[in-house]
Amino acid sequence: MRSSQRATNLHPSATLAISATARRMRAEGIDVINFGSGEPDFDTPDHIKDVAIQAIRDGFTRYTATGGIDELKDAVALKLKRDNGLAYTRRQILVSCGGKHSLYNVFQALLDPGDEVIIPAPYWVSFPEMVKLSGGTPVFAHTAEERDFRIDRRLVEPLLTPRTKVLVLNTPCNPTGAALTRTELAGLAALARERDLWIVSDETYEALVYNGHQHLSIAALGEDAYARTLVVSSLSKAYAMTGWRIGYAAGAADVIQAMEGLQSQMTSNPTSIAQRAAAAALAGPQDSTRQMRLEFDCRRHAIVGRLKTMPGIRCLDPQGAFYVFPNVSGLYGRRTASGTRVASSSTFASFLLETARIAVVPGIEFGSDAHIRLSYACSMESIEQGMDRMAAAVAALQ
Ligand code: PLP
Repeated sequence: MRSSQRATNLHPSATLAISATARRMRAEGIDVINFGSGEPDFDTPDHIKDVAIQAIRDGFTRYTATGGIDELKDAVALKLKRDNGLAYTRRQILVSCGGKHSLYNVFQALLDPGDEVIIPAPYWVSFPEMVKLSGGTPVFAHTAEERDFRIDRRLVEPLLTPRTKVLVLNTPCNPTGAALTRTELAGLAALARERDLWIVSDETYEALVYNGHQHLSIAALGEDAYARTLVVSSLSKAYAMTGWRIGYAAGAADVIQAMEGLQSQMTSNPTSIAQRAAAAALAGPQDSTRQMRLEFDCRRHAIVGRLKTMPGIRCLDPQGAFYVFPNVSGLYGRRTASGTRVASSSTFASFLLETARIAVVPGIEFGSDAHIRLSYACSMESIEQGMDRMAAAVAALQ
């Protein structure tokens, strides 16, 4: 008796696994600082929680329409108009159980076996696995650290074949923090038009941009870009609502309807109560998101500042999201006190966990073995303490 090839070949999420390890160590009484988790440490704002509590009291606890309640679809439409200048009808919007589920639905709806999907690398861990689960083939467009991990049409064009069907964009990017400019997006939109590609634009971190960057959705660049783009986003990061599991996709009505069909056989509707709360989050006051962004920005300065002082480590200034992606390859070849050679992002991450008691994610999981990813969605105190520990551990390498 064996499980399927599909399940066996799947690479489970490394980021979730590292957070689970950190949680387990903490439960065992070990003082671990977790830089692994892509989850804000903030609490969901009270005005959002209140709506959910009221929904329970009102008995709003039954199945809803598979693709989301009208109230939430209207709130999504309002948000996309208000923040992105994009107009969508209810039939063009699907609400799912987190942005992850939205993306899974998108790839399932778009891909046939053998279709190729361009994924900029370093990439968020789930893109390649979701593409493979849909029968597609990931093709990586490797961005260069020297060019701030930016992606433009020159990087993508040589990778296109008659089988290329989808271009994935993730701006701001997890893990690099790179946020694309209008010029870069315009070039990519033109390429998608010339080669008739779908664009999947993951804008989960759009509310968290820094250094004066203005987020722009590629779908807002004109009629053609609008028609071929599926915009995907999530309530998780911008509203500190990771556990509520609400994400959404907007785009061509026929694809959205196909996704809804898939969802009707998988999960049915996302949680009714969470949907009411999500509508309040999107349509209500945005002050708490702005406040969280300011706090993330302070933490970003603090962590980048510290990493830059560590010999052997290079660190760019991320423009968005809440991750730093330092290059640690300058430390490879050195030895730990117990004689182990640091030779890769995985050995370095294990060394940090064992010696410094800090959890980070090896860059290899995102497609670059020269880097590690640290999330600064944790308290300033954790950042200060964690950086002290990391600096001491790195200084002790021989
Ligand atoms: N897209 C990116 C780039 C992410 O980093 C994440 C979460 O880490 C998601 C989508 C999905 O988030 P969720 O499923 O919590 O909405």
